[in-house]
Amino acid sequence: MISFNNVHKAYGDHEVLKGINAEVGKGQVVCLIGPSGSGKSTLLRCVNGLEEYQKGDILIDNDRVNAEAKSIHALRTRVSMVFQRFNLFPHMTALENVMEGPVHVLKESKADARKHAEELLTRVGLSEKMDFYPSALSGGQQQRVAIARALAMKPEAILFDEPTSALDPEMVGEVLQVMRSLAEEHMTMIVVTHEIQFAREVADSVLFLDGGKIVEQGQAREVLTNPQHERTQDFLRRVT
Ligand code: ADP
Ligand code: MG
Repeated sequence: MISFNNVHKAYGDHEVLKGINAEVGKGQVVCLIGPSGSGKSTLLRCVNGLEEYQKGDILIDNDRVNAEAKSIHALRTRVSMVFQRFNLFPHMTALENVMEGPVHVLKESKADARKHAEELLTRVGLSEKMDFYPSALSGGQQQRVAIARALAMKPEAILFDEPTSALDPEMVGEVLQVMRSLAEEHMTMIVVTHEIQFAREVADSVLFLDGGKIVEQGQAREVLTNPQHERTQDFLRRVT
């Protein structure tokens, strides 16, 4: 469903992605791991058009991603993103945050958007918190609202950029649990994470990125328990 063919990306003359090749099948969960600065966020941002890339192709169901204004709008409704910092609108309740995209971008009626938002907030365990403002929610709850908001766009895939890195440790589990349930429902997901246990249990495949190149990729269990490359081995030793 998402394919990367020789993707190159530079900021000025600083080359950040150096020929990325990978495939993400429909309904698959792919975890993207690697050291800080290796290009993980940049790669995700290229998928939903937040960044341009200079060479190669990123295809979503055979449609080429490019950052041209007219296609970008359509693209963002096909692929949602969940960030490390939850980026909720502070002046809107949880429910209003989830309704915002469907009403303003998808042009759903308020009644439909509300009904769907209520279902989604219930699904992420927040039926009691729908009318709360972000400031009255814990980090874990805010991130679950952010996931509900991403789902509200009825995306074909969701990209997660270190969704639990900004959370206090006791809140990591509740967010991973929501992601795990999405995986069980066969949502297509690319997840940048340092949660190796989660990757081992949930991911179909793992990509290890280092210095803008995929050094190793394969079945999650293989890569994470029996890494072939020294750099992957080093990295896993440091994060686990
Ligand atoms: P990661 O998410 O793996 O930590 P990033 O994709 O954020 O890595 O960054 C990869 C490289 O690109 C780093 O060297 C970073 O400094 C550089 N970089 C990221 N964003 C920008 C930007 N907007 N302008 C210039 N350089 C950037
Ligand atoms: Mg990053």
